[in-house]
Amino acid sequence: MRGADSTGGTRRRGCPLCAVFVSGTGTDVGKTVLTAALLRALRLAGVAAQAVKPVQTGVPAGEEYTAQQADARVYASAVADLSPVPGLAPASVLRSFSLPASPHLAAACQGKRLEAAELAQDVLKHWESLNGAAELLLLEGAGGLCVPLNEREDMLDLMAALDLPVLLVGGNGLGALNHALLSLAALRDRGLGLAALALIPTQPATVGAEDEARILADNLRMLRARLARSGCDAPVLELPRLARLDGAAWQRLAEALSPLAEKLTHWTERARGEMAADLVARDHGTVWHPYASAVALPPLCAARSSHDNRIVLTDGRELIDGMSSWWSAAHGYNHPRLLAALRSQAGRMPHVMFGGLTHAPAVDLAERLLQHMPPGLERVFFADSGSVAVEVALKMALQYQQGRGETRRTRFLTPRGGYHGDTLGAMSVCDPVTGMHSLFAGLLPQQIFVERPSCRFDMPFDPASLDDARRALEHHGQEVAAVILEPVVQGAGGMWFYHPDYLRGLTALCREAGTLLIFDEIATGFGRTGKFFAAEWAGVTPDILCCGKALTGGVLTLAATACTGDVARGICGAGRVFMHGPTFMANALACAVAGAALDILDENRWQMQIAGLEAAMRKGLEPCRSLPGVADVRVLGGIGVVEMEQPVNTAALQRFFVEQGVWIRPFNRLIYLMPPYASPLADVSRLCAVVKEAVHRGAYRTGV
Ligand code: PMP
Repeated sequence: MRGADSTGGTRRRGCPLCAVFVSGTGTDVGKTVLTAALLRALRLAGVAAQAVKPVQTGVPAGEEYTAQQADARVYASAVADLSPVPGLAPASVLRSFSLPASPHLAAACQGKRLEAAELAQDVLKHWESLNGAAELLLLEGAGGLCVPLNEREDMLDLMAALDLPVLLVGGNGLGALNHALLSLAALRDRGLGLAALALIPTQPATVGAEDEARILADNLRMLRARLARSGCDAPVLELPRLARLDGAAWQRLAEALSPLAEKLTHWTERARGEMAADLVARDHGTVWHPYASAVALPPLCAARSSHDNRIVLTDGRELIDGMSSWWSAAHGYNHPRLLAALRSQAGRMPHVMFGGLTHAPAVDLAERLLQHMPPGLERVFFADSGSVAVEVALKMALQYQQGRGETRRTRFLTPRGGYHGDTLGAMSVCDPVTGMHSLFAGLLPQQIFVERPSCRFDMPFDPASLDDARRALEHHGQEVAAVILEPVVQGAGGMWFYHPDYLRGLTALCREAGTLLIFDEIATGFGRTGKFFAAEWAGVTPDILCCGKALTGGVLTLAATACTGDVARGICGAGRVFMHGPTFMANALACAVAGAALDILDENRWQMQIAGLEAAMRKGLEPCRSLPGVADVRVLGGIGVVEMEQPVNTAALQRFFVEQGVWIRPFNRLIYLMPPYASPLADVSRLCAVVKEAVHRGAYRTGV
């Protein structure tokens, strides 16, 4: 590999980390020996590899970690007879502690605390410091996969932070299967790739040689079968038991590992090939993005992983998230409780059809949702996206009106500036201008639009703001099946916050006109505005309420449409049924995750978190008000908006924001933030500061 490239050692400078993590199914399984032997095999294959221990415990206090210490001596002895790679020591230790114990304890005894993100940074800095001298690092963990780094994180978190393939080393003997299978399950759960599983015979058990041979062979067979069953093609390697580690032994081990060394060489090259540029190019060749051209291709960033309030790009850059993935990831990314619910339900039953069958995740979720919704809502219909939940709401309203003989009521009334989704029915009630109704003229049903609720949330209520709706209902009332709107916050139609008294007045007008009232809480639900549902700001109960987005904390697509008992009975009188039934209705995985998201909300930290976001965004965004080009600054709950006078250049701004290490995606005239609820306030301040900088520098016009 090295010899084949004329640019030699400098070619990897600035390249993404190229490494494999070596971990064990337990302590003392031969990890260090295997790492050393693989180092030899790689060096024999011409790969400039280095063995690195991010954390080493059991290093006597006050001493530098030198070749005299055990592990480095093992690494060095494995390659002692090979010619050295210029500028590259065989091994390196990044942090060492004296107590021979788990890293969390060894560090604590020296008054230190280990964090996976910091250790990952150590590794990346080390890789950079090698200045291209190394082509591949073998990162040897301490102990097994679940060895703690602190109360919250363990070795797996370091592996996940680095997103590396893992070489799992286990002892082969009695108990090997249990340890190996548990470790493989842990790796799979974290989405980490297995490079190989290597088994080294443990000390002979108290069985005869023949029985022992049978056990060892069966362990290998069983593990190969299990890996194949889970669709994993990683090899299971059998290594010899060696009495002494002399030159011949190292050679034997290295030969046994040479197919793996070969595979790693290709694997890491492929992994590099899939890095950002390649992925974006492939995307541009095949994939369509939201509201985007398939000809004038949109600028894209390739995301590799996520955690907390961070999105990690394939080039390793970590962005502070300001969008909660379009309102959905309210609890941040990879929340352990949401993932645990997902895994546990996946192990039991991912999905069954909902016609004629039911299950606990759906029933529990329906009951709990109704407890949180305004009183009077009694029945829940699960849908698979927000748009479909809106279609369901519109169909419910139509069937309800038909059920009571009001067959003329086939239209919907809605304020301008609304957004309800992209399917045809939902689109027909979106703002006709921003929803581009002209594109679909002739196809969309013609709905009745009234003035956007003009009275700001933060101003005294002006009853005249209801005049247009009143007039329209007086005029068209007999044709209207329902009025639909987003309560208090109009989202994608303009991020507009209006006075809750508008909803009270509108509710009364709907009752008078005999139309139903539908609240679309798909964006506003689950605490974002400072109330669990935005309807609470007005203290009114709609006839139908849609929710989605943050329902599953952004993990899976799920939405729900709830209605009152009166609506349900009206639809289903005289043996009628409601005519809708998606294949993935009440998907059990999504319902289970939604239940866990409700658990998080029920701990009631969200009120404090939203109040914190609101205060931080008021402070951070307010200074934008006086900048040229800014039309308005407004903040409500966990939503902060800087409205510009002119439409912004989304692509230029996205580029600027990513360069500044934040993920914010503006649209039309709006630069807005809705960070995950638990975002550290320092990150929220940073998001605001970057928005201010973008406006100040005029990055919204051309990019700078
Ligand atoms: N209603 C509102 C208020 C929304 O904000 C959205 C999504 N932006 C939808 C409906 C449509 O939801 P989905 O994208 O899940 O179809």
